[in-house]
Parts: sequence; structure tokens; C-alpha cells
Amino acid sequence: MSIETTITVKSKFSNKFAGGYPLLFKDAILNPNDLQEEGTLIKVVDDTGRFLGKGYYGEQNKGSGWILTRKEDEAIDQGLFDRKIQAALDFRKAFFNDPNTTAFRVFNGEGDGIGGFTIDYFDGYYLINWYSEGIYKFKDYVLESLKQFVEYKAIYQKKRFDQKGQYIDEDDFVTGERGEFPILVKENGVNFAVYLNDGAMVGVFLDQRDVREAIHDQYSEGKTVLNTFSYTGAFSVFAALGGASKTTSIDLAKRSLSKTIEQFSINEIDYEAHDIRVMDVFNYFKYAKRNNLKFDMVILDPPSFARSKKHRFSVAKDYKDLIKEAISITEDQGTIVASTNYAGFDMSKFKQFIEQAFKEMNGSYKLMDEYSLPKDFKTIKAFPEGDYLKVAIIKKIKG
Ligand code: SAH
Repeated sequence: MSIETTITVKSKFSNKFAGGYPLLFKDAILNPNDLQEEGTLIKVVDDTGRFLGKGYYGEQNKGSGWILTRKEDEAIDQGLFDRKIQAALDFRKAFFNDPNTTAFRVFNGEGDGIGGFTIDYFDGYYLINWYSEGIYKFKDYVLESLKQFVEYKAIYQKKRFDQKGQYIDEDDFVTGERGEFPILVKENGVNFAVYLNDGAMVGVFLDQRDVREAIHDQYSEGKTVLNTFSYTGAFSVFAALGGASKTTSIDLAKRSLSKTIEQFSINEIDYEAHDIRVMDVFNYFKYAKRNNLKFDMVILDPPSFARSKKHRFSVAKDYKDLIKEAISITEDQGTIVASTNYAGFDMSKFKQFIEQAFKEMNGSYKLMDEYSLPKDFKTIKAFPEGDYLKVAIIKKIKG
């Protein structure tokens, strides 16, 4: 990989890159046609020829590549990957030493110095997510570093790039001893069933660890809990173990029923004492209102975009209305956990949606707690949009 293309960025963005912004977004590039083959090494300069950094070309929804070093004499080679991956492993030492949590992120893309891929750890198994064809060209460097620095049962991968940025279904096994799935991993002592060879989603979203802990420790005792967009029911399991009197999990996907039963069962919770429904959340809201159902806690964790038979939902346009739905079925003095992983707005904008929703319901509330990404999802100040998770825990006073 020695081919090198020089990319010139517009002068108005020159200082942004000089300040450490790592993403080569399309708007910034003056000569995009010089980017031909993904994985090509690039040198980034401004229109006066000032050196800004070196990186690689890779097409991702977020841009056309990532800057990996701002030192002109630092080569992008095995040594660079070794240094970044070693530093990332060191940063997670406390996680590796904690027997109660055996699932966490070990490499978080640009947060750890190389945008375009992540590595997660699941009790001895490593899972690499590749977000562009370009970074995938560096696969051997990443594998070489892992082989050198960690002991693993096996390495799996997800190639999350094709023309549509969709997940490509294929054998995800890379090397080691094939696992027998599900494997059981732990998070703060709670079990998760994880499948590394069954589609893009493995059974758990690791970035909600701190929120699950808060729900378990502070908000569940004796409460009725509605978990919307529940997927495998992770929030429900933590609520149940935290003493919730009953949880109700709602997800449209058929697989969510068996996956949620499994998640309860591996934690020795009687799933029959809980409600698990495969249905559209928006229909459930109607049903709950018709039947005067109210909950002590309502959890909202929708995907950024969702389409069902009757509804088209986008976080950017519809979150305020989603909160209004939640307000109408939450008991006074109850709790709403509002979460989104949409990177298109920040926490202050998110809080405006909450403010507006209560206003339109003539309600009042108190913001109890806020969460963003946990420590293992390392982010850098120069790239604030990398800190995508926003969670607000709200006490509904009335509404
Ligand atoms: N809260 C989950 C993750 C949610 S992932 C967790 O903590 O693990 C988003 C989920 O929303 C998916 O499982 C998807 O099936 C579900 N979903 C999308 N649109 C929906 C809708 N209209 N009604 C119910 N579930 C929906």
C-alpha cells in the first residue's frame, strides 16, 4: 500500500483539519475525482500546500476517508496499527480485569485513532466491524496486531459495506476455533446470549451499559416498566433484576420474542411473569391509551429510521411526538428514559425536543440524569459527532 494520492481541502476547512478533525467529508475535498481506489493512502494538504495529515480513502456514509496521522514522517504501516491497537487495549485494562463484565468495545474507530472500523470483545471472542471497503484493505494489519497482542478463542468480522451501506450476509468467521453460538457473556454480572455469526446485530448493544446499570440500580424497584423498541429485551432484563414488579417489551421483529425469552431465561427470570409482544410500538401506544394503561417507567430507544406497515419514523422529525406518546402513558412521578443514537443532533437539541413535548402536553418534568457513550466507546474532542449516544432520564411530574 504505497500508492499515495494528494487531496486538497478547501481553505475554509483548513483549520478544522489542522485542529485534529479526522473525517474527510465530501464537501471539504477540492479534487474528489482523484480518489479512485478504496484503500489508497492519501496525503491531505490545503490550497496553499500546507500539510494537514495522512490517511486513507474509504467511502462511508460519513465521508470519503479518515486521517490517521498528522505527522508528515509517520508511515501508515503495521507499526502505526500496532501502536494504536496496543494503546486501545491498554485503555481497556480495567475491563479486561473485571470478571463481571466480559463484553465491551476494545477499539472505537476514530476515537482510538483509526476511523472506519471497531473491535468488540465477547468473552475471548473478538468481533471486527468494517465500515468501508477502504479500511478492509488494511485487514491484515489489524489481524496481525490482534494476533500479536491478545489471546483469542476466535476472531469474527462484519463487513458493513456494499453499495447501500447494508450488511452483507456471509460467513463471518475469520480465524481461531469456531464458536458455538450463543455464547454467554456478562455485563455487571448479568448474562447476555451473543451470536457472532447470525446477521449484523449480535444480541446486545454494548453502548447502553451505563444506562442499563442505572435502570437496574436506581429506577426499577417495585415499578411497572414499558420497554419500547425492545429488541432482545436487555433493558427489561435489567429492570426485572432490579426489582421491577412487571416489564412489558414491545418490538415489531418476530425474532424479538424468542430472543427476549432467551435473555430472561439465561438470567433465571420467569419470562411468563412478564409481557413480551411482537407488535408495532405505535399500535401499542393506541392500545394502552384505549385501555387506560399506565406505567411507572417508559423506555424509548428507537432506531434512527424505521418503517413499518403504517408508520414511517425518523428520530430527527418524530422524536418529540414519541415523547408525547410516552408522557400520556407514564404515571405522574414516573420515569421516562429517552434514548437515541442519532448523530445528526446533539444533547442540547435533544433536550429541546423533550422541553417541547412536555410543553405541548401542558406537562412538567425534571431531568434526573443524562448519559452519553460509556468509557470503552472512546471519543475525541475534535470529533464531537462521534459521541452519538444521548440518553435523558426524565421524571414526569405531570402531563
Ligand atoms: N432498545 C434495544 C435496541 C433497539 S434496536 C436494546 O436496548 O437492545 C431497534 C429495534 O426497534 C429493533 O429491534 C426493531 O425491530 C425495532 N423496531 C423498529 N421499528 C419498530 C416499530 N415501529 N415498532 C416496534 N419495534 C420497532
